[in-house]
Amino acid sequence: MKALVYHGPGEKLWEEKPKPSILQPTDAIVKILKTTICGTDLHIMKGDVPEVTVGRILGHEGVGVIEEAGTAVTNFKKGDHVLISCITSCGKCDYCRRGMYSHCENGGWILGHLIDGTQAEYTRIPFADTSLYHIPAGSDEEALVMLSDILPTGFECGVLNGQVKPGDIVAIIGSGPIGLAALLTAQFYSPSEIIMIDPDDNRLAVAKKFGATQIINNAKENAIEKLMQLTGKRGADAVIEAVGIPETFELCQSLVAPGGRIANIGVHGKSVTLHMETLWAQNITITTRLVDTVTTPMLLKTVQSGKLDSKKLITHHFKLSEIVQAYDTFQHAGREKALKVILTNE
Ligand SMILES: [Zn+2]
Ligand SMILES: [Zn+2]
Repeated sequence: MKALVYHGPGEKLWEEKPKPSILQPTDAIVKILKTTICGTDLHIMKGDVPEVTVGRILGHEGVGVIEEAGTAVTNFKKGDHVLISCITSCGKCDYCRRGMYSHCENGGWILGHLIDGTQAEYTRIPFADTSLYHIPAGSDEEALVMLSDILPTGFECGVLNGQVKPGDIVAIIGSGPIGLAALLTAQFYSPSEIIMIDPDDNRLAVAKKFGATQIINNAKENAIEKLMQLTGKRGADAVIEAVGIPETFELCQSLVAPGGRIANIGVHGKSVTLHMETLWAQNITITTRLVDTVTTPMLLKTVQSGKLDSKKLITHHFKLSEIVQAYDTFQHAGREKALKVILTNE
């Protein structure tokens, strides 16, 4: 089969690899129908995720069809259409029993990281019974690819941890796919304002279309002054960080209202300054989380019912065999006006 293989920082090839086979009775082999590229894959390509070794097939998102199910798999059989979760969960360890699948002692984020992933014609999914979801017949499979990672990530790490409530003022720093996923799912709770902050005018225009009530271009204007002016000098009740650099995390600390929450989603590679000299008396909460995908069944229903239009996050389509070109487009997201790309295995 063909797969996108990591060959060290900056190096990747679409090349021939052996088709995966069942290693444990709880495994399933999935033929990929649709997959995508994540910002995390770009971090891997930069060399920011050193656990990813040369020869690894990347990718942790996708939908597919079961090619073969291991003898211990009871929930799925050959021919079933499935959504692949970016988080693998054994369902039995202490963390899984607490719904913290991200920290599963036998899984967690392993696909396209510690084991071969989904940017391939076939992939092996460990603990298939608890790591895959049935896709209802007639589903829009492209829309469902958004449920492998970005929608649960924006929702769980941003909206749930940020405790977004009716009437809240929400600020989201970063209008990329994850920030937009937080924007879409924050609207489940009817906040009074959602203020989107990003240096890219195109992404802000998209945010406006997706329901942002205010937009701030922090390359052109002072985001702190503008947000304070918009909120009567109070700040935001929930501030969601969807970038992952020291500057944006520091910005969150200047935007949060007394009693507010800073919910970090961003993948940080550097330490940040925590301004306790101003925050110590502000009754704020700071949260961090790796997505557990515990809300995937709920999000699946909202997409199926049309309450959540996840398809609008998709801007580009490629054949799976054109994945190197798709990486180039996704890497130059500003120039290409790219959000999520869909790769179809034809
Ligand atoms: Zn991802
Ligand atoms: Zn587990």
